Amino acid sequence: MKRQAPYSFGGIQIAAGERMTVDLPMARLYTHSEVTLPVHVIHGKQSGPTLFVSAAIHGDEINGVEIIRRLLGSKSMSRIKGTLLAVPVVNPFGFIQRSRYLPDRRDLNRSFPGSPTGSLASRIAHLFMKEIVTRSTHGIDIHSGSNYRTNLPQIRTSLDDDENMRLTKAFGAPMVIHSHLRDGSLRAAVADHGIPVLLYEAGEALYFNDPAIRSGVRGALNIMRAIGMLTPSRSSKKQEPVISRTTNWVRAPRSGVFFKQRLLGSLVYQGDQLGVINDPLGDESEAVLAPFTGVIIGQQTLPLVHEGDALVNLAKVADLGEAEETLDEYASTLTEEDFGLER
Ligand SMILES: [Zn+2]
Repeated sequence: MKRQAPYSFGGIQIAAGERMTVDLPMARLYTHSEVTLPVHVIHGKQSGPTLFVSAAIHGDEINGVEIIRRLLGSKSMSRIKGTLLAVPVVNPFGFIQRSRYLPDRRDLNRSFPGSPTGSLASRIAHLFMKEIVTRSTHGIDIHSGSNYRTNLPQIRTSLDDDENMRLTKAFGAPMVIHSHLRDGSLRAAVADHGIPVLLYEAGEALYFNDPAIRSGVRGALNIMRAIGMLTPSRSSKKQEPVISRTTNWVRAPRSGVFFKQRLLGSLVYQGDQLGVINDPLGDESEAVLAPFTGVIIGQQTLPLVHEGDALVNLAKVADLGEAEETLDEYASTLTEEDFGLER
């Protein structure tokens, strides 16, 4: 196959078979210091697709940052066809402040496709669209749960799009949740360009979740195989993910201190006890029960709850036996330490 032409990015030429971190000017801090969007470009020797992998659009969602770091360290990066655009920190302002938002509290993931004259969030969104999305043929955007919530590794996508479903299955996350495009999100803006994009949800904001990180690295490599950037692996045995179209948060029936009794990824039956809300004085307690049979795909990690707070995110699944098998298989890939890390 023919060698690729050099890749021109951010005013820099990257030769075929080379890799480089390019800092795209973004904005200044009011201290005068410049803030940049760091992009690691791996330009393969041979031509192929262009995949972007992005994280920390919500600045406190750091599992994706670690996923990209490990992905870039993978030996197979020297063999890719096409071009990888890795953007581990899309929202450096939030990342510095350990915050989901921009300094003015705007949500970057509601500001796409953005504009060069809009708010800071809107300008960053525009920069990302112009420099990353319009050059890409495929995308993976990585998120984590917010507000003391943790998510079972899951892909959120439209189940009604064939190419998205093919890639979703290739990714290999244990769970797939049907989700509509949300106005202003990167996913919606990328979909508007006709580019297949997967949203991977992993763990909790501001904490590392090792199984979610490992699952994400594996998933990104699987996508690179599925779109022809890497040679497919010989072991093609792949577990089908558990698919759900309906999810519901179970809310706190009263205020108190929540003691959870089920792990993320558990299959629970209607009426099963998910945990107990206790009065701090020990006077009163109330059990929280599963309103329907499903899989725990998200959980509040902070035990302090007001009535009405979302405690457990349950996903309805069609085939319970199949779901159990897949989740057991996933759990078998976890180490004892992973369970210890479960907060
Ligand atoms: Zn997010």
